[in-house]
Amino acid sequence: MPNLNPVKLSPAFKDYLWGGVRLKSEFNKQCDLDRVAESWELSAHKDGQSVVTDGDCKGMTLTEYVEAISRDALGTNSAKYDYFPLLIKLIDAKGDLSVQVHPSDSYALEHEGEYGKTEMWYVLDCDEGAALYYGFTRDVTREEYENAIKEGKLTDILNRVDVKRGDVFFIPSGTVHAIGAGILICEIQQNSNTTYRVYDYNRRDKDGNLRPLHVAKALEVSCLQKSPDLPATPDGADVLLAACEYFEVRRLRVNGETTVTADESSFVSLMVTDGEGTLTYADGELSFTKGDSLFIPAQNAAFTITGQCELIQSKVN
Ligand code: ZN
Repeated sequence: MPNLNPVKLSPAFKDYLWGGVRLKSEFNKQCDLDRVAESWELSAHKDGQSVVTDGDCKGMTLTEYVEAISRDALGTNSAKYDYFPLLIKLIDAKGDLSVQVHPSDSYALEHEGEYGKTEMWYVLDCDEGAALYYGFTRDVTREEYENAIKEGKLTDILNRVDVKRGDVFFIPSGTVHAIGAGILICEIQQNSNTTYRVYDYNRRDKDGNLRPLHVAKALEVSCLQKSPDLPATPDGADVLLAACEYFEVRRLRVNGETTVTADESSFVSLMVTDGEGTLTYADGELSFTKGDSLFIPAQNAAFTITGQCELIQSKVN
């Protein structure tokens, strides 16, 4: 059986119409697409898999790799899932994303045959004045919500939030949301690609077509309460960004040397969001730079990280 050494992953790319070029120009992403809206950095999803770039399993998709090293390498917290539990992306929103909502597990498993989607965003960078929509400004009724969609006035009742670098948004399934133009984020989410589009700014694609909306389903799954207040992200070398029943996400800022610990409960994903460094393990090392995605199989071990860098560390809860 191949060893449990950490590996680097290369992403699947998506060129959705709202994407930009910053993942190529600033995050060292190499691909032939003119624009890169998303890179799926930790993905075993059928719509786009990450691929191992080094070690014994070089060239394998994340799904093949997990089969090769055994499912135990996902950790005991993943035993309750039928699928790989997380999906981690970088997202470069040059234009506005549609206003959308994701279903819960129970709704999605019944209607879509996959998990629902709770997600979180860490803002890597944004343009001056960039903003996004996060839930409603107040409690609304289903009728108000439905009428606002019909009349093209949905954004009047949505909570528009100005963003800055380092902000964190936790988005439970059912939260109506939209990433705004000029925002670059790292997204950690349940492994699901089910999105119900509610409003798309009446945009047309290059062939003059509107993208489909999914209003009926969205009405069934949306949370109609006022959105919660957002806490400020604390400073610090090791900061908890989000913890929920699905994942725990921390931001590590390394200035010299630090230790990352793995255990049997979960694999560890390290997304390099700034700087560069080296991860040292028992019999080798991996050097990394901004934009790299590292995967450490579940095991009882400690790893030394040296360098000047910022990492987003995700584990399965
Ligand atoms: Zn979303």
